Amino acid sequence: ASLVQVMMHLGEMVTATQSLPDETLQLLGEELKYNVSVVSPEDEDRELLESFSIEFGEDSGTDEDLRPRPPVVTVMGHVDHGKTKLLDTVRNSNVVSGEAGGITQHIGAYQVSTTVDGEERKITFIDTPGHEAFTAMRARGAQATDIAVLVVAADDGVKPQTAEAIDHAKAAEVPIVVAVNKIDVEGADPQRVRAQLTEYGLVAEEYGGDVQFVDISALRGENIDALLESIVLTSDAALDLRANPGMEAQGLAIEAYLDRGRGSMATVLVQRGTLNVGDSIVCGDAYGRVRAMLDEHGENVEHAEPSRPVQVLGLTNVPSAGDNFLVVKDDRVARQIANQREARERFAQQAKAARRVTMENWQKT
Ligand code: GDP
Ligand code: MG
Repeated sequence: ASLVQVMMHLGEMVTATQSLPDETLQLLGEELKYNVSVVSPEDEDRELLESFSIEFGEDSGTDEDLRPRPPVVTVMGHVDHGKTKLLDTVRNSNVVSGEAGGITQHIGAYQVSTTVDGEERKITFIDTPGHEAFTAMRARGAQATDIAVLVVAADDGVKPQTAEAIDHAKAAEVPIVVAVNKIDVEGADPQRVRAQLTEYGLVAEEYGGDVQFVDISALRGENIDALLESIVLTSDAALDLRANPGMEAQGLAIEAYLDRGRGSMATVLVQRGTLNVGDSIVCGDAYGRVRAMLDEHGENVEHAEPSRPVQVLGLTNVPSAGDNFLVVKDDRVARQIANQREARERFAQQAKAARRVTMENWQKT
């Protein structure tokens, strides 16, 4: 019998070229008396790192080693509601003293500071709007975001992508701060946005809920400070963001490209530990020694603490957004992990191509 017939016998109508869900493969394995185990790429990578006695994704040490870290924010919302404008305005309005010119480099993420209750507080913004990047990362088992800023235009109200963004934030269990934008536009109705969003379970504080709503004009730069404050307050109230700065750094690649003169330029978000110039790192299937780090002002950075995005120079090639990065003992370990990841990826591509042939020609003996 062909595989297709075996499947039919199992009550599954399939064609010889279609790919099957994991459960069906498991069923097929049982029928054929094969032990089929489905291993996700994330599990496989965890095993690879464990073989080097490395654990990715956990802060090492005890509670005492943990220090508060700034929230990492992603801006989401319907098209044309002002996500890009908001990111630009926040970037431009936040000229930390002594840093003339403000943020000039687009490195995929930036950090700003704001004063809340007389204390200077930092916030990290992922500098690409939209939930696509957000979901692409999540699909790979990576979560960079702590808080979602939902931008809703006050002259347009809740739209399909507003609802989608809410779904994604909820699925990721990320608290939402609502930025009701374009309040400068004639006919803007911020109260209507509040009323609409109650239907999605987002109830403003003034209506007895626990969601912060801030009316802003990204275009005119109005109320941006209040928005930043609300982000900090939401972080304090809903999250207890801490990380151990004392360990070897781990985090995620946010974006990367090849610069003709300087080679691989990878923006990474440090999630735990401290990244230092000179560290041996592996990032996806790229590896190398950190030759230099640049911040969003184009300035050199020697050490990057948790929630800090930095552009890293010195990798052998260009990692992908969502790849994890970690500091390892030495260059040799970095190279070995990178090479094994690359080999695994190549194998997966080949297996994909080969599987079709195998299925089509497979005969039950
Ligand atoms: P995105 O698609 O969500 O990234 O939206 P954009 O940031 O590209 O903004 C869409 C349009 O709305 C642009 O023409 C912006 O200049 C404009 N816009 C954004 N924020 C405001 C605002 O607060 N007031 C007004 N009047 N226009 C805005
Ligand atoms: Mg945009």
